[in-house]
Amino acid sequence: MTETILVVDFGGQYNQLIARRVRECNVYSEIVPYTKALEAIREKQPKGIIFTGGPNSVYLEDSPTISPEVFEQGIPVLGICYGSQLMMHLLGGHVCPAPEREYGKTEVTVDLSSKLFQDVHEKTVCWMSHNDYIERVAPGFTISAHTDNCPAAAVECPERNLYAVQFHPEVLHTQEGTKMLSNFVYRVCGCAGTWKMDSFVENTVRALREKIGDGKVLCALSGGVDSSVAAVMLAKAVGRQLTCVFVDHGLLRKNESEEVSAVFGPDGPYDLNFVRVDARQRFYDKLAGVEEPENKRKIIGQEFIRVFEEEAKKIGRVDFLVQGTIYPDVVESGFGGESTVIKSHHNVGGLPDYVDFKEIVEPLRDLFKDEVRKAGRELGIPEYLVNRQPFPGPGLAIRIIGEVTPEKIKMVQDADAIYREEIANAGIADELGQYFAALTNMRSVGVMGDERTYDYAIALRAVTTTDFMTAESAQIPWEVLGKVTSRIVNEVPHINRVLYDCTGKPPATIEWE
Ligand code: GLN
Repeated sequence: MTETILVVDFGGQYNQLIARRVRECNVYSEIVPYTKALEAIREKQPKGIIFTGGPNSVYLEDSPTISPEVFEQGIPVLGICYGSQLMMHLLGGHVCPAPEREYGKTEVTVDLSSKLFQDVHEKTVCWMSHNDYIERVAPGFTISAHTDNCPAAAVECPERNLYAVQFHPEVLHTQEGTKMLSNFVYRVCGCAGTWKMDSFVENTVRALREKIGDGKVLCALSGGVDSSVAAVMLAKAVGRQLTCVFVDHGLLRKNESEEVSAVFGPDGPYDLNFVRVDARQRFYDKLAGVEEPENKRKIIGQEFIRVFEEEAKKIGRVDFLVQGTIYPDVVESGFGGESTVIKSHHNVGGLPDYVDFKEIVEPLRDLFKDEVRKAGRELGIPEYLVNRQPFPGPGLAIRIIGEVTPEKIKMVQDADAIYREEIANAGIADELGQYFAALTNMRSVGVMGDERTYDYAIALRAVTTTDFMTAESAQIPWEVLGKVTSRIVNEVPHINRVLYDCTGKPPATIEWE
């Protein structure tokens, strides 16, 4: 039987990341919902079990739980965040709201004699995201790590192979998290690590070819990294059976429509049937008067599909629709097992009941952003495209708080272009995961040329992140921010104030809506 680590899903945002980190240790891992965990354990005889985090509180009725039998199987268990709290709760410890909640990078002091912390530094930076904490550990357990605010940041009962951590070792912001997971997998569970990851690109291209046969494929190309990689992958698999439709919904960044057409159009390096549709007015009409972010996302998602349907009719028969959905979109939309809906992504939610295609193909659905980039490189897509900043499907509509109007789009486009230009001039683009301008719906009083103004505030956002599941606000040099600020207020009419967003994810998201 394949050596397996079973990840039990209690609704955390990072579950797929846990499985991925384990697979990176050359041990196969898969995720099961908590409701099916015991069954799966019996069937798969895993070498180890990992409990994920989750949004609930273990001490409340109706919160996800599991039979304490799980601890009696002689199989090592590692609890993460909610999972750690649940382990304590079930085994006689006490969990309650923490006097000090912790979010983000936190220094943790670990006990170096723990198997989990072998070769880890005694003081190590970990990623926290919790409201509750372990107030009293369960009998038989000892504390193996603490922070200033969290007395039991890790607990363990090595005799029973039970381990629990309050922080998230699976996210890259936990600097030695991979080491800790590998310690669990090798030193606690005794895995041999013989499993090998296959080439994602090769397998997917082959599978796409088989699935599609001689069918006709329509691809929604936005020009972003995800849809570009999906398109090139489909082109590899089925060549000119593929038509790529690029909808200019008028919510793109400044000059982007021209740039995308230059790369994917007939003069570019790819052999695609490329169609550009100018649908700007249609989207503006639909969005008039709409303020609620989820509504905006749904309207845009639906209008997208309509436009594709119309294009599909022009092409004739279309069998498959390709979308560049990636895993974080799936999770945040609440389609990732037990997780909470953070926001619906137009690639995932928002599909109208009536879709005029046989099937939707999403070749990147299980990948994280950095894996998509890796796949892109494997496909030979040039670096400037592979490294393009992520840009959401609903575009600038979700970087304009409140109603979207052509005037506001122009403001945010111009401000964003200045911001990007100055980031490039400063030579710091490579250090940033994503950066953009968002138009707040707030107006405030200013003075320009001795005149009173009552105009909009632009917010600048820049984050560092690898997987886009967690992120930190980037420390952009003050001179750069100063330069951007004065250019924006000077060059973009109706903006008289510039703000910088200092929030990480969590608690904020990277985009504003
Ligand atoms: N909901 C729990 C808390 O706030 C667990 C959070 C988590 O798993 N990230 O402490």
